[in-house]
Amino acid sequence: MDTMKAVVFKEKDHIAVEEVPKPAPRAGEAVIRITTTTICGTDVHIVRGEYPVKPGLILGHEPVGVIEELGAGLDGLYSIGQRVIVGAITPCGQCFYCLNGVHSQCGGGVGGWRFGNTINGAWAEYLLVPDARANLAPIPDGLPDEAVVLCPDIFSTGLSGAESGNIRVGDAVAVFAQGPIGLCATLGARLKGASLIIAVDANTHRLAVARQLGANVTLNVADGDPVAAIKRLTDGRGVDVAIEALGRQETFESALRAIRPGGTLSSLGVYSGKLVAPYEAFYAGLGDQKIVTTLCPGGKERIRRLMAMDEHGRVDLTPLVTHRFALDDIQAAYDLFSHQQDGVLKVALHPDAARVEAEPELVAAGLIDEQC
Ligand SMILES: [Zn+2]
Ligand SMILES: [Zn+2]
Repeated sequence: MDTMKAVVFKEKDHIAVEEVPKPAPRAGEAVIRITTTTICGTDVHIVRGEYPVKPGLILGHEPVGVIEELGAGLDGLYSIGQRVIVGAITPCGQCFYCLNGVHSQCGGGVGGWRFGNTINGAWAEYLLVPDARANLAPIPDGLPDEAVVLCPDIFSTGLSGAESGNIRVGDAVAVFAQGPIGLCATLGARLKGASLIIAVDANTHRLAVARQLGANVTLNVADGDPVAAIKRLTDGRGVDVAIEALGRQETFESALRAIRPGGTLSSLGVYSGKLVAPYEAFYAGLGDQKIVTTLCPGGKERIRRLMAMDEHGRVDLTPLVTHRFALDDIQAAYDLFSHQQDGVLKVALHPDAARVEAEPELVAAGLIDEQC
């Protein structure tokens, strides 16, 4: 049997690089050779045992790669060797939820998220892609891996916070927390036409990146109550839309207090325990406000649109990729990322160690050489 290298969840706080069977595609499935992937905050929750997955599962849900093998039924749609991305969420396109337009919930609650959750994920040399027809998105020529590695999850999720919040041209928007997803929500607010974009965080480095991506005002929570500052900036009303991108009671409550009557709280965070909404923070339920939640939109058309923004120069996501590692060095990459050391935003992981050196040059040149 062919084998491959993969990072496997063993138990709480324990991941390991192991030799495991290489997947083979059945009808409608594809196998891609992973060239670049990354670590998500959700992976940290999994490794810490805060989100349960089966021991032995390969983690990771942000794949960039090359088609290695195609199952039956995909003739003429894709070719071997083609560079592709697959979204973190892989909707089937056929079930009740997909046909009702809620693709991320494919098959039932949070069911569209399969990689590194219910099936093997992208921290490996090869990845089996289900429903390949609905999920393989070809990468436009000239875009290197690290320019698009945020499209499967972080950019899609962050932008969806702005989309679900239904930001209109001229809106005032506050984005609570400027981790990678919050930063992409800030970028999303700019793309959706917000006039005033207020970025909130406790990390000055992240606030500086937020300015690069579109924030006009940054508020450091260490300097005082951000809600009071937001009210001052909006004639006492509050913002039209607040985006919560952390998943804590504190930021949720601040986001709720920050929106005006009739405003929208667009929530991206992953919460645990109980979430409380104090009655006065939402006008005792009489404030005509909306609270919306969103799970990362996936599927090949979504991913095509995100990469088109990159291809045509509307966004540049490469400043968010701050570090790169060989997949073999996953433990060092995980430690750096999970402890937010050295100004890290996202780490690029390359199964082929040679790519760790090559990719920055490819990024700089805007070129890709598949021999790397
Ligand atoms: Zn993720
Ligand atoms: Zn479905």
